[in-house]
This record gives sequence, structure tokens and C-alpha cells, in this order.
Amino acid sequence: MHTGRNSRLDLLQQRPLGSRYVLYGMAGLVLTVALTVLAVVETMRHTWAGEVGAALSCSAVLLVGVAFHLFGRRLAVQIAGRERSLAEANARFDTALLTMANGLCLWASDNRLILANERLCELLGLPPERLVPGLSFREYIGLRHAAGNFGAVGFEEFYQSRLELVQRREAVSRIDISATGRSMAILHRPVASGGWIATYEDVTEQHAVERARAEAEADLLRQREKLAEEANRAKSGFLAMMSHEIRTPMNAVLGLAGSLLDGSLPREQHAMVRAIHDSGDMLLRILNDILDFSKLEAGRMTFEDAPFSPAALAHGAVSVLGPQANAKGLAITAECDPALPTGLIGDAGRIRQILLNLTSNAVKFTETGAVTIRAECVARNGPRATVRWSVRDTGIGIPADRIGSLFGEFVQADNSITRRFGGSGLGLAISKHLATQMGGAIAVESTLGVGTIFRVDLDLAISECPPDAASRPVDAVPAFNAMLRARGKRLRILLAEDNPTNQLVARQLLKGLDVQVDVVGDGREAVEAVARFAYDVIFMDMRMPEMDGLQAARAIRQLGGRMRSVPIVALTANAFAEDVKSCMDAGMDEFLPKPVNKEMLLTTMARVLTRAETTDPVT
Ligand code: ADP
Repeated sequence: MHTGRNSRLDLLQQRPLGSRYVLYGMAGLVLTVALTVLAVVETMRHTWAGEVGAALSCSAVLLVGVAFHLFGRRLAVQIAGRERSLAEANARFDTALLTMANGLCLWASDNRLILANERLCELLGLPPERLVPGLSFREYIGLRHAAGNFGAVGFEEFYQSRLELVQRREAVSRIDISATGRSMAILHRPVASGGWIATYEDVTEQHAVERARAEAEADLLRQREKLAEEANRAKSGFLAMMSHEIRTPMNAVLGLAGSLLDGSLPREQHAMVRAIHDSGDMLLRILNDILDFSKLEAGRMTFEDAPFSPAALAHGAVSVLGPQANAKGLAITAECDPALPTGLIGDAGRIRQILLNLTSNAVKFTETGAVTIRAECVARNGPRATVRWSVRDTGIGIPADRIGSLFGEFVQADNSITRRFGGSGLGLAISKHLATQMGGAIAVESTLGVGTIFRVDLDLAISECPPDAASRPVDAVPAFNAMLRARGKRLRILLAEDNPTNQLVARQLLKGLDVQVDVVGDGREAVEAVARFAYDVIFMDMRMPEMDGLQAARAIRQLGGRMRSVPIVALTANAFAEDVKSCMDAGMDEFLPKPVNKEMLLTTMARVLTRAETTDPVT
């Protein structure tokens, strides 16, 4: 191996001082001897030249002698001093090389080894006696390959990759895991003489600590995720339970208040029942907002893709909120850009929800003036269009410093205003989530005391076939009665519902129609009833004692024959997407979440009956 002793000369790359003086001395001697020989020859020839030569050579011998005498001792001392300090420097260098914690090797520009230390051999498992100066880089890589440094990587591949690395002539730092599992921090650096120097540091322990820390952090993260998932599940479970528990009494409040309003009540009582109904409606909206928000936040909201009319949505918002605006003396209008596509594909229900949120805020926060809903086409890109719905008002406006936080949940621009106007502060947060989860955006511009404009931009596919007329709202009761008359026979309906109040609600909703309603209290009774009578429609609660709605629906479908297609409508306070799916999987046709109103009930019945007639004309 090429340790310190051999390396010193190469490293310092200079000839020792002593050899230079020996050379000078030798030259002096040769000159003296030559002159003496010349003098002797010429003396023998007894010429004057001989005598002069002899005299000269004597003087030369004398001069050399004097010179040696004068400078020789001094030179000898100087040479000895220089060699001693060189030896000391080399000894220090040797010690440093031998004792350093890192492996080191120095290479010449012709890819040959200049020196390597023992630590390098230790770290890489190389035989020290083979690491001699002059060893080629290829041989060195061969030794490392034989020592198993490169694992399964072939010699040639490894050699080429390392050669390319050192020839790049730039500092390269990397971590290698050796075949023995040790981690090595390696630093290659070019040196001015044209070669390069490489240092090797064993960082296995550091690495192990870092790996352990990274694993501990990953573990912590996994645990946190698990806890968050559990908390989320618990939250969803709680929300589902609360939703069910709140919907059941709400069904009674809204259903029965609705039925009372349909009847003829004295004016004062009518006003009171209207107040009960509207308050119930508001409660239901808050409940729906909370459920929507939690679904949106968890990314569990699903969106449907169906053709709809963007203009109809703007007009729809005016017809829903018109009475409220007019009651405040506000003008409310819808404007549609002529370039607006007649049909788009998207989730009209969710876009309507955003528009109703924005329009009801506009009406709520405007005392005088007008609310304008506008639908326009901002851009067309082949089969897609960017459509903007905007809601502008001439209301109180929003302070500039509150605009930034407006779309956060439970945010109200001004708490004193909220006490005056009411609201949960969820509407805009939900609208923003809905718009962004449909791939769009929502923005606001407002001037305090002048008014506000909210804009919703959505990029949607253009629908080839415009939405059909059937999707436009129609008055449910006359339409249903017309359908019954066309059938020419009375409808027989089975209601499976265990809660007596909900039974009453359903009966009240169906009162006054030409239908016969049979009521059973659980799923088992429902299955028995369908075996006895030919029902036209079955309304099925989900949670019932003895046999629940899902089991009953399956049992009815298994009866076969006509029972395979008799329309079954879930009528339930379980209002989550998973509930809809379970009902459909159990063979039901439609899903009506409670609280249900007369319009929903009749529209759904008309739909399933029409469908049953077209698919099964015998019915
Ligand atoms: P809220 O149920 O309180 O209306 P929103 O999220 O819909 O909740 O609105 C949040 C707040 O934004 C409102 O409380 C109100 O302060 C402000 N805001 C929303 N729309 C308007 C508007 N058109 N004009 C003035 N302020 C508005």
C-alpha cells in the first residue's frame, strides 16, 4: 500500500535539495580533473601551454578546495536542516493520514493511484497491500467489486458509472450503502494537478438514527391519520344519527302543517300554522346545510351529470325568491345572455343550491333597489362552455377587510348584522365548496353602502339535446290527478311505516286523492300484504322492527312475477348517499328523504308509475 513514506516525494513533487549540490560538486570535480590531465600532458610536452595549464590547474584545484572549504560546511548544515524539516513534515502527514477517521485516496490525472490510507481499506474491505501507487482506477474498481462493494451491480457497469463520475471534474457528494449494509458518505473533488481526491465517511450510525427518526415520524403520521379517520367516522355516524332523529319529528311538523295549510283554516290560525311551517322549513335548511358542509369538507359529495338549462336556473331562482323580494319592495329579475347555450351537462341541483344561497343573501341584505340574476357565456371551447351566473344587489355591501374571510365556515361579515338578519354563516362556505368541487370558482366584489355582486364560473360540457319540458316544474297535484284519470282506476298504495305520527303524515299528504292507502307497521307485514293484494306503489320506511325496509324489499323482489317490478319507494329519515345506495341495492326504485312534502310524494309516484307502465304494460 502507498502510505505516507512513499507518498511524500510524489506529493511535494520536488527534487531533494542535497542532490542539487552533489551535482554542482561533481561538475566542479570533473572540470578540475580535466584541467589537471591537460596540464600534465602539456607539461610532459614541455610547452609554455603546459606550464600555464599546470599553473591554472593548480589554481583551479586550489580554488575548488577553498570553495569546498568555505561553502561545503555551510551547505551541509543547510541541506541537513532542510531534509530534517521535510522528514518532520512527512511524518506529520503520515500520522494525519494514518489516524484520520475518514478513508482517503488521491488519484493522478492518468487515473492512477497516488496514495490511499489504511482507513479506506478498512471501510471498503480492500487488501492494503494491493493499494500501491500506480494502481489503475480500473484495477481499484476491480478490487472493490471483488470485496462485494457493489452488491449485484456488474463490474463493467459500475466501473463506467464511477469513471464518468470522476471525469465530470466537479465536486460530487453521495451516499452509498455497501454490500455489508454500511452507509458511506463519499465526496469526490477534482484537484488542481488534474487528478481527484475522494474521501469516505462511515455514516451508518447517523443514518440509522435518521432512519429511526423518519420511521417514528411516519408512525406518528399514520397514527394521526388513523385517529382522524376514526374521529371522522364518529362524526359521520353522529351526524347520520342526528339527521335521522331530527328528520323524523320534522317530517311530522312540516307534513302536518302543510296538510293544515291545504285545508280551510280561519285566517289567524292559517297565519300561525304558516309560521310553524316556515320555521320548520328554516330548521330543515340549517340541518341540510350542516350535512352538506360535513360531506363537502370530507370530499364525500357526489355530483351528477345530466342535461339542464342554464337560463332556467336563473329564472328558477327568481321564481323561488320573488315573493320574498317583492314583500320587501325589491325588484328581482333574471337576465340571460343570448349566447348562452340552451343546454349544459352538470349537477343542476347543486348549481341551483348555490344560486338560491346567493340570491337569498342578496334579498336578505338589501333594503331598497333591486336584485339581478344574470346568466352569460364567458367562453366557448369546442364542446365546452364557461358559464357565469352572477347575483347583483343594491344592498348594504361588505366591508373590504371582511371580503377575504367571507367564504370561510361560520363567518358573518358583521355579527351585529347577523343578529338582525339571522343565518348560520355556512351558505357561502358551502357555495364555495360546491363551485370548486364542480371544477369552478366563485368570486365577490362589493362596495359598502352601494351593493354586492357574487359571480360563479363553471366550465361545463354543452348538451346536444336541450333538457326536455318534463324537467320544468309543473303543479304536482293537477298533474297527478290527470294521470290517475288517464289510468281509469283507483290506485292502491301500501305504506310500511312503524311510527304512528309518520303514518298520519303520509295519510294526510295523500288525503283528497283518489287512492286507497293500506298501512302496515313493519317489513314482515309488508311482505305478507303484497302477497295478498296487488299494490300499485309501495312506500317503505328503512328502519322498522321485526324486518327492516331493506330486508322487506329484497323479500318482495324474491316473490317473483309481478313483485319483481312493483314500484317500491324508500321513504326514510336516513338521508345519506350510502342509504340511497343500500336502498337501490335492495331492489327499490326511488328514494324520498324525510321530511317529505306533497309535491315530492306525488311527483315521485307519477314518475314510478309512468316508468312501470312503459316497461310493464300489463300492470
Ligand atoms: P349567512 O347564513 O349568515 O347568510 P353566508 O355564508 O351565506 O351565511 O354569508 C356570510 C356573511 O356574508 C353574511 O352573514 C353577511 O354578513 C355576508 N354577506 C353575504 N352575502 C351578502 C350580500 N349580498 N350583501 C352583504 N353581505 C353579505
